Amino acid sequence: MATLSPVLKQATGVIAARGEGALIFDEDDRRYLDFTAGIGVTSTGHAHPKVVAAAQEQVGKIIHAQYTTVMHRPLLTLTERLGEVLPAGLNRVFFANSGSEAVEASLRLVRQATGRPNIVVFHGGFHGRTVAAASLTTSGTKFRSGFSPLMAGVAISPFPDPTHFGWSQQEATKFALAQLDYTLQTVSAPADTAAFLVEPVLGEGGYVPANAEFLAGLRERADKHGILLILDEVQTGFGRTGKFWGHDHFDGKPDVVITAKGLASGFPLSGIAASEELMAKAWPGSQGGTYGANAVACAAAIATLDVIQEERLVENAAARGEQLRAGLEKVAAGDDRITDVRGLGLMLGNEFRDADGNPDGAAAAAAQQEAARRGLLLLTCGAWGQVVRFIPALVVDEEQVEEAVGVWQETV
Ligand code: PLP
Repeated sequence: MATLSPVLKQATGVIAARGEGALIFDEDDRRYLDFTAGIGVTSTGHAHPKVVAAAQEQVGKIIHAQYTTVMHRPLLTLTERLGEVLPAGLNRVFFANSGSEAVEASLRLVRQATGRPNIVVFHGGFHGRTVAAASLTTSGTKFRSGFSPLMAGVAISPFPDPTHFGWSQQEATKFALAQLDYTLQTVSAPADTAAFLVEPVLGEGGYVPANAEFLAGLRERADKHGILLILDEVQTGFGRTGKFWGHDHFDGKPDVVITAKGLASGFPLSGIAASEELMAKAWPGSQGGTYGANAVACAAAIATLDVIQEERLVENAAARGEQLRAGLEKVAAGDDRITDVRGLGLMLGNEFRDADGNPDGAAAAAAQQEAARRGLLLLTCGAWGQVVRFIPALVVDEEQVEEAVGVWQETV
């Protein structure tokens, strides 16, 4: 049997044979509650009949037609449909295949549009694994080490993370905004700064939500200095947090939104959205790629939007998220090692700390493995791997959430 190369780590040993909604069945037909959703991708659940039908139909019509030469209907329809859900004014979209590529597209756009070299990112942010995206990523040295030098022109400023130093959110936000002013004074002058790039909720960085005051502070500084605000909604978009976009919780006002993951229910598709005026500043030929806006992926994305609307999945994410949070908090109350339950909607994390109060990645990894043994698939995140996260499909139902909490209770 072929072995995985050493760079690939497989946390659970499960080989999926098929999926159905929030469930996965392995090759022996063992049932698992999938609270990973392929890292927050299969939001409409595995093999949703409408997504499957749309993709199957499209495969029989046209699979690929490169849009710089020939447009296809799914691309045009998807663009129109995204107009219904994107923040007002963001009416131009560019499509790629992965989150990292979309992050890079946003980087090219803001540098070309402003003529400025630098991007300010916020500590704990994850933006992908291509060299440029890794240069913008600060959620763990494992994403940055060993292939230096990284891209120049990145300044790192604190994210308002109240999990450090026992701060309140208000204290953490005050600190983060003061440090941002310091960063603009000492590292990246406003005249050199093209954009701020931030996640509405730190994803790989440990499921730490931003807040309204912080995003308003970024907007204010962006407006004052002609800096653009990019929100990376790759993990938080498409209903994951119980609102359509993560920044809807905080009245965020982005110049550029990056989307991927939940966009196409598992087909590789990502995109950036910006105003017509801003997008017109991208240099001709600088955005593109052979496979972007694949016709089958676009058809799946249209079906995904239909399912999200028809089955009220954003509302379900909010309701099931509340149920899940209440259950996880109850479990945490009986376990000294779980010091925090946090996140938004169906994007919830449990922080593990040891007796000295230090992040405990080993305990989180052991819990993840034990949960998998008991039929519940989970992921970890955080710089030390100390957070066990629950991120099921948005179609997850009340009984499945109750069952997952029960398994979690037995696991820890
Ligand atoms: N941005 C965020 C917030 C992400 O969570 C991820 C992936 O987890 C990415 C970007 C990179 O996406 P991809 O893995 O599709 O390149």
